[in-house]
Amino acid sequence: AGAATPQPPRQYKLAPQSELRVEVLPDAPLRVRLVTGTAEIFGTELPPEGWVPVPPRSKIAIFTWHGATVELDGVSESEYTSDETPMVIYVNTHAILDARRARARTAAAQGGDKEASQGPRVIVVGPTDSGKSTLCKMLLSWAAKLGWKPTYVDLDIGQGSITIPGCISATPIEKPIDIIDGIPLEMPLVYFYGHPNPSINADVYKVLMKELAKTLEKQFSGNAESRAAGMVINTMGWVEGLGYELLLNAIETFKANVVLVLGQEKLWKMLKDAVQSKSNIDVVKLHKSEGVVLRNSKYRQRTRSFRIKEYFYGIANDLAPHSNIVNFSDVSVYKIGGGHQAPRSALPIGAEPVADPTRLVAVNISTDMIHTVLAISYAKEPEEIISSNVAGFIHVTDVDIQRKKLTYIAPCPGDLPSRLLIASSLTWYEA
Ligand code: ATP
Repeated sequence: AGAATPQPPRQYKLAPQSELRVEVLPDAPLRVRLVTGTAEIFGTELPPEGWVPVPPRSKIAIFTWHGATVELDGVSESEYTSDETPMVIYVNTHAILDARRARARTAAAQGGDKEASQGPRVIVVGPTDSGKSTLCKMLLSWAAKLGWKPTYVDLDIGQGSITIPGCISATPIEKPIDIIDGIPLEMPLVYFYGHPNPSINADVYKVLMKELAKTLEKQFSGNAESRAAGMVINTMGWVEGLGYELLLNAIETFKANVVLVLGQEKLWKMLKDAVQSKSNIDVVKLHKSEGVVLRNSKYRQRTRSFRIKEYFYGIANDLAPHSNIVNFSDVSVYKIGGGHQAPRSALPIGAEPVADPTRLVAVNISTDMIHTVLAISYAKEPEEIISSNVAGFIHVTDVDIQRKKLTYIAPCPGDLPSRLLIASSLTWYEA
């Protein structure tokens, strides 16, 4: 059925522990309603009454533990039910994590040490399209439903779910993740890498992970509640070579104590051998859901573009970004890394090349910046840029070299909160 073919409202009777999988088109609205029973979308319960609009392009599963009748209204790209899901294993995993949180809370109340009062730090790893982000959402929502406030850490710079691509970020999850609005965005802690691929400058990626971990560690030390609730960490789908090395690095940097491996035996075995033997880290293998939708690189590229658009225009295209003009002299744009290192042959005998891939480079504003995203750093001085998180992003819409003026859009009106900007390779073209 094409987008134009209308579909009448239809009801599905779901048996206990089964789900209705639905793919929403980019431009046809679809809504869902609970008729009887109880059901959830990735860990967040459907309200007992009323229609819930499902965001365009989303691929969801409406799962029921005890049976439900649900109704769909609108055109979908595909919809089918399945009673083969890994949900029981997932919720059992959640129960184990929950027990660890309770233990950590008790230890904290009894004045236990840092180790004992630390709740689970779960890192979810696996190849692309194994359902990592989805499992993270479920674990977070189930925990939040029980009153915990776990911290969500998203290290996926390609298909992250907290903010625009090219970032690593963290945010506390205080209630089950909203079906429409997604991850709450009041207080995210965001570090800007600026590219969707870590191999462009893996050292910078590692440094930013370290900075994020350091900041979270500081927050936890003053907050026993969030310390006990722990973290759920989402990672990239790149699990070989450098990707694997970065996973090991992430496990170490964030002091993960539970590694959940989705859908790949080999990766599980490798990680188990690499980390479990040396420390008290549990490396657990979990089945992936057959419902996870495969996305090719073109689709991923397009999703990245939409994520950038959403930042400025809202998920439902309901925000109007503000256009502004600054003089070149009002801002300073920097690039992290990219400093050329001298080849060994050009150095005096015996000297080691000074490789500093995290060097800060000032960049001239040029027309090349049109259509790119710039991040606004919280740094007070340029030297602090790499260790600082960012306040938000602007999208460059024009550069006038003659008049030395840069035109941009931002989600909020008013002056930029800082004059220090970080350049990126992220682009988005207004259609
Ligand atoms: P990546 O490595 O690219 O970040 P991932 O492993 O994090 O991918 P997800 O983003 O969790 O994978 O899942 C891919 C897509 O499949 C998402 O759009 C998600 O909503 C959808 N999906 C996950 N589980 C199901 C399911 N049971 N039924 C239908 N759709 C699902």
